[in-house]
Amino acid sequence: MCKDSNKISFNFSKDYIWSLTFFLKSLSITVFEHISDINTWVEEQHKQGRSVGFVPTMGALHAGHQSLITLAKAHCDVVVASIFVNPTQFNNASDLEKYPRTLREDLEKLSASDCDAAFCPSVAEMYPTGDKGHWDYGALSNSLEGFYRPGHFDGVLTIVKKLFEAVKADQAFFGEKDFQQLALIRRMVQEEQLPIHIVAAPTIRESSGLAMSSRNQRLNAQELEIATNISRILLRAVGQVNQSAPAAILEEARSALAEIPELKLEYFELVEANTFKPLTTKIEKPCVFLVACYLGEVRLIDNMIVR
Ligand code: AMP
Repeated sequence: MCKDSNKISFNFSKDYIWSLTFFLKSLSITVFEHISDINTWVEEQHKQGRSVGFVPTMGALHAGHQSLITLAKAHCDVVVASIFVNPTQFNNASDLEKYPRTLREDLEKLSASDCDAAFCPSVAEMYPTGDKGHWDYGALSNSLEGFYRPGHFDGVLTIVKKLFEAVKADQAFFGEKDFQQLALIRRMVQEEQLPIHIVAAPTIRESSGLAMSSRNQRLNAQELEIATNISRILLRAVGQVNQSAPAAILEEARSALAEIPELKLEYFELVEANTFKPLTTKIEKPCVFLVACYLGEVRLIDNMIVR
């Protein structure tokens, strides 16, 4: 789908294409489907002396994503957001299938957030040969999410690198909500000397404390209430760092989560924030408590940083 009607390449009915064209024309955002087109647009911005910020997303946008757009707007002259549900980072076919897809609403939200361009490529555009890279950064890539979701980070780093190459922005903005992902992207950019500056944004939460996530859309009202225990228990752990040893804090947190029958805990850990070295005997700052658990079929992650 592209803002110019002559660039729409799907085989949809005439009526559908007309409604789509009117919809896209009503937005104050330019929408690109092809790498070559976003490339040309970014080049033009640079020629005009404008800095370009980039916010990669998988869509189903919420206030957490919008905070990244706002931050990017504060740092850069123009902002591109991408919307692409990346198949190579899903290690579970049903999770990929059930991932919320709300492109129209997303484009409206980006437009309302003053985002300048959206890059919404197809899978064929991003993966013409189906390639997926491999990165081994020790504990950073192999522990926690890397352990419980084998191949997930290879998929994430593959698409992030491809998107960086496609968009060629000056700065890219990522949320601390996905703390291990952020640490890995920083590491890849540093190791491979990619010409982009990474900026981190704090986790945006509901008033209940629940970290905002596109996956929350799959929770019912009762589950949303149960999910608030995750941030509550994280917060209590953070409050104990100056009083108790890590092992005792972790044990208490894990027991508290185990008492909630609907939550199936995968991990609750404390690691050094840059290396992901597990901390069990002594606190070393900055460190981060990270948690992953299932609530029904929905996998939720959260973290809190101790600086
Ligand atoms: P996603 O669409 O889930 O791939 O997320 C796109 C970007 O938004 C990533 O950099 C996430 O870390 C970030 N993000 C997701 N949820 C939040 C949140 N609650 N607060 C801040 N950033 C977030």
